[in-house]
Amino acid sequence: MTRRISIFGATGSIGQSTIDLIARDPDAYETVALTGGRNIAQLASDAIKLGAQIAVTADEKRLAELRDALAGTGVEAAAGRQALIEAASRPADWVMSAIVGAAGLEPGLRALQTGATLALANKESLVCAGPLIMRTAQAHGTHILPVDSEHSAVFQALIGEDLATVERIVITASGGAFRDWPIEDLAKATPAQAATHPNWDMGQRITIDSASMFNKALELIETKEYFGVSADKIETVVHPESMIHALVGFNDGALMAHVGTPDMRHAIGFALHYPHRKSLPVERLDLVKLGQMTFRDPCETRWPALRLAREVMEAGGLMGAVFNAAKERALDAFIAEQITFPRMAGVVEEVLSDLSTYESHNPAEITLDKVAEADHLARVRADEIMAQ
Ligand code: NDP
Repeated sequence: MTRRISIFGATGSIGQSTIDLIARDPDAYETVALTGGRNIAQLASDAIKLGAQIAVTADEKRLAELRDALAGTGVEAAAGRQALIEAASRPADWVMSAIVGAAGLEPGLRALQTGATLALANKESLVCAGPLIMRTAQAHGTHILPVDSEHSAVFQALIGEDLATVERIVITASGGAFRDWPIEDLAKATPAQAATHPNWDMGQRITIDSASMFNKALELIETKEYFGVSADKIETVVHPESMIHALVGFNDGALMAHVGTPDMRHAIGFALHYPHRKSLPVERLDLVKLGQMTFRDPCETRWPALRLAREVMEAGGLMGAVFNAAKERALDAFIAEQITFPRMAGVVEEVLSDLSTYESHNPAEITLDKVAEADHLARVRADEIMAQ
């Protein structure tokens, strides 16, 4: 039986890896919607290749370009935020949520409301609106399958286990581009240097977030929201080889690790075939060739984002949405070379302190509108702080 699939953020790094897997078995899938942003040529060529019902660009100004590229192919073209939401509301069995940033929240939520299984790469959804996302999945009797490699690893280590026996979850971190730089040199780091990852091939924003560990910070919060464990049970460790993606420690002292080469098709393929395992076109790990794996303490002076993540987890409420939005604006400013690399954490810390009233929101009452408000105010405040 064919499965109806949609891919949000199809033109990005995760989207392309997902298409790579889908395209290897075309008869198994029927593509409903593919969405992208600025990369119209990629979006159109993939939509034609997979025979999608509809291709949507988030950028309204690019509709004519998309229409031209799809003329005579039978693939519908649409553009803009509303079109994106409409595409997410089309019935599908499996939806990949791989838009970058808070912009990925609403399409994922709509997909859950149709009853689709949501393969969730967009970690920002859980950071900004964890209780809302989890509640929506439950209300519609559907699953969220984590695609972040760390969370896929934890999910796999927990299969058949009782969550009450979990003592700790350890999320590994490569340490990113500046792992070995002297801390005093970080103020001179450029966006191009930050966007070079030692192990993973990912989109520009997440690669820079890996260097600052804001990506890891988001993942710690994502762990709390997805697995429902308290902040004191979630740890991180620097593991430069990126071969162990995460570990789960149980009450008998056992520590279960998920080990594999750094290729996102492991986690995407697992989510695509779940609850089954199918052969994947990923490199098999040669342990002898690897020789050794090393671990280091995650220094919070070098990576203050880790301390901020802990504060956000402890605060709860809508502080995740505030944290993410402030981080997105600080990252925009760093990419535009308006602020230095270390300043990003300073900006986020100030916004968290200024908008601490969002701590008091009851998780059961979090709505999309409240998340949007917190997100908006955090962006405004971040811009004000950076303009001073
Ligand atoms: P990319 O930047 O490579 O791709 C992002 C995708 O989102 C592209 O299709 C882009 O379109 C689209 N997009 C960008 N802005 C918007 C917007 N405002 N509205 C709608 N669509 C938009 O990102 P990644 O694939 O690296 O990451 C995607 C998500 O997955 C992120 O949340 C990231 O944290 C997460 N993730 C990524 C991993 C990785 O290995 N890359 C690993 C684990 C999680 P276009 O390019 O056409 O402009």
